[in-house]
Amino acid sequence: MPGFERFGVAERKSANEVLDSGVLMRYGFDGMRQGRWMAREMENALAKRMQSRHAHLVSSGTAALTVALASAGVGAGDEVIVPTFTFVASFEAVLSVGAIPVLCDVDDTLTLDPGAVREAITPKTRVIMPVHMCGSMADLRSLKAIADVHGLLLLEDACQAIGGSYEGKPLGSYGHIGCFSFDYVKTITCGEGGGLITDSDEIYEKAQAFSDHGHDHIGSDRGAEGHPHLGYNYRIGELNAAIGLVQLGRLDEFLDIQKTHYSRLRDVLESLEGVQLRRVPEGGIENYSFLNFFMQDENKARSVAKGLGKAGFDGVFYWYDNNWHYHRKWDHLKKLESLSPLSEALVSQFQATRTQSFEGSDHWMGRNLSILVKLSWDEKELQKRCRILKEVVSAGQDQ
Ligand SMILES: *Cc1c(COP(=O)(O)O)cnc(C)c1O
Repeated sequence: MPGFERFGVAERKSANEVLDSGVLMRYGFDGMRQGRWMAREMENALAKRMQSRHAHLVSSGTAALTVALASAGVGAGDEVIVPTFTFVASFEAVLSVGAIPVLCDVDDTLTLDPGAVREAITPKTRVIMPVHMCGSMADLRSLKAIADVHGLLLLEDACQAIGGSYEGKPLGSYGHIGCFSFDYVKTITCGEGGGLITDSDEIYEKAQAFSDHGHDHIGSDRGAEGHPHLGYNYRIGELNAAIGLVQLGRLDEFLDIQKTHYSRLRDVLESLEGVQLRRVPEGGIENYSFLNFFMQDENKARSVAKGLGKAGFDGVFYWYDNNWHYHRKWDHLKKLESLSPLSEALVSQFQATRTQSFEGSDHWMGRNLSILVKLSWDEKELQKRCRILKEVVSAGQDQ
């Protein structure tokens, strides 16, 4: 997945252009910046690549989710459906606008189970937030149908699946808003950064203002601009955007490499008994950043994870035990260990989650293993990995 593996001459050159002009901020300083608007250029390129009317860059993927929610008018007392398997950023963004995260089961796609989503809807629900984990997507057709029936916002977190598609549309562009992260370990990186895409003029207008203290960005005198509504600072800087602009141009090059590496490992798994691959919804094309598969039970999955580690096959994740990505270790969320008091609505509406069990998720996640697909592997490394994978998974069947 990580674009940092291919950080090179072009990225350095682009960053140096910013350093040469000395304009590190994305707004203003028109005279000094010698015609370079890195954030603006990357936004144009992102909107084009994602076949969306608008793209807006911010300081992180978490900020993108936060700005998306705020711009859609989601706040106090509103419920947002998020999966049990995601990154903590999902519920952090929801909490940051004062809304209530409602955890919901994942299925064999490793993303939101549409059946569980239907059951989780209440009169307070405002948003369904599918998270396209580990390179592949949620069943967006079903989720969109549910969202349409109930008048809900479909907000795609495509931070881990940039470049994948569903029914011919780039991931992130199927719902009302899509979010990306360009942090250091994502498929393409700005160092730190994030972005949102949308076809809605209204959401875009609010997003670009909200993420910059409410600035309406009208005219050429920043100090004289109006503030039609409250905002915050989630701006990206020009240095980050300069690097991201180059990496975005290399996205398809990275995806090709990932696909080749992924396919070699996948061929090995397909030749083995008792291994089930993660389900990719019909009409979906992955971004190949991870290869996910299920063993027959939790013990076998644990033993294969251990075996791969011992054999020197790094980058294998057993998410079921993970602190940052799976609900079982989110005690801080379940106990609402906030540094400051939270609203009464949040505390009372959130109660049920503390003791809720997620058997549907545990069934799949307990058996799942996830291999990070790296860009830097050469032919020798690939052959070695294929050999180890075959040996260890075969041995794991007999546990
Ligand atoms: C990385 C990530 C985020 C947050 O992105 P940051 O840029 O690190 O804030 C959100 N959701 C998912 C699924 C991610 O993987």
